[in-house]
Amino acid sequence: MKREPSGTPVPGQKTEEWNDWRWQLKQSVRHPRHLGESLRLCTGDMDDLGAVVETYHMSVTPYYLSLIEQGRRDDPIARQCLPDRREIDAAAGGSEDPLDEERDTVVDGLIHRYSDRCLAMVTSRCAMYCRHCNRKRRWKTGEDVSPASLHAMVAYVARTPRLREVILSGGDPLMLGDDCLEGLLASLRAIPHVEVIRIGSRIPVVLPMRITPELCRMLRRYRPLWFNTQFNHPREVTGESARACELLVEAGIPVSNQSVLLRGVNDGLETMRDLLYELQRIAVRPYYLFHCEPVRGATHFQTDIATGRAIMEKLWGDVSGLCIPRYVIDLPGGGGKRSLEPASCHADDEGEKVN
Ligand SMILES: *Cc1c(COP(=O)(O)O)cnc(C)c1O
Ligand code: SF4
Repeated sequence: MKREPSGTPVPGQKTEEWNDWRWQLKQSVRHPRHLGESLRLCTGDMDDLGAVVETYHMSVTPYYLSLIEQGRRDDPIARQCLPDRREIDAAAGGSEDPLDEERDTVVDGLIHRYSDRCLAMVTSRCAMYCRHCNRKRRWKTGEDVSPASLHAMVAYVARTPRLREVILSGGDPLMLGDDCLEGLLASLRAIPHVEVIRIGSRIPVVLPMRITPELCRMLRRYRPLWFNTQFNHPREVTGESARACELLVEAGIPVSNQSVLLRGVNDGLETMRDLLYELQRIAVRPYYLFHCEPVRGATHFQTDIATGRAIMEKLWGDVSGLCIPRYVIDLPGGGGKRSLEPASCHADDEGEKVN
């Protein structure tokens, strides 16, 4: 059942408040003990969870919590947002920085790994802390990036002419206020060799009210601007999130999706197909399906490559080409992104060579 954007799922809750992103942030649940009784059933034993959030903090908007099917331990929405004791299981392994991003960090917070584009982590804050995040290592700082750091990132881009694209990432760049974000976009736009700006943000999925008409009016002035978000499950496509994406698209900003293949969330063919269909329906182009990396604190989300390949193989035969993302892995040790597509998806055997 899709809710309309104006509806509030919580009885007695004022609609204006519910639709106000500041209210959503203020009301976010930051400790498992503040979860309602019915949600506690999803998390199991409360005692251990305090220790989990001391290591990896928690923050979930009431909006995202409302998508959980209450009382189900294995709910795919709950899994993405509620702490799990396996996150601090010392025996679970995993690496803090599996992609070795620190190695390609050229100035604090800016990763320049591929020649023509770079990725700027412009804040370490997120509207929601996804339990599977591969930048969990950066949550600890919990601080905003200083204006001096932002300035240093822009200065690096300005003196590096081969950079034709800059990706704003984080954290979530839309956690910056409109003015700060606009300042950043304006300074990047003023650099002649920067042709394209990309924003990577999960806000349309976890706090869709943040995508306001005013924000979109501002963003459209800095086109060509591309927007990548992260829907992982069909139930995340709601009236609200569809509207957020529609506002962006109407502003001339193409929206693409980067999912992560997550055990117990979207590692089945049906779920993945439903997700891709939903995305196509709301004009969001599936771009990447990331293989889940061995991130410390998130190894319980990992699937094997065979699972991902089997799903991809079925999709190729079955669904519209416009729905099909590329299945990729970001190689450990900073090796970069590689295609994981099954060989039979292509005339050549590109997919076989990379392993
Ligand atoms: C993923 C990534 C990019 C963007 O790569 P695309 O294939 O263009 O989406 C850029 N820089 C870094 C460091 C990345 O990890
Ligand atoms: S929004 Fe992105 S950076 Fe933030 S916790 Fe989720 S996956 Fe990590």
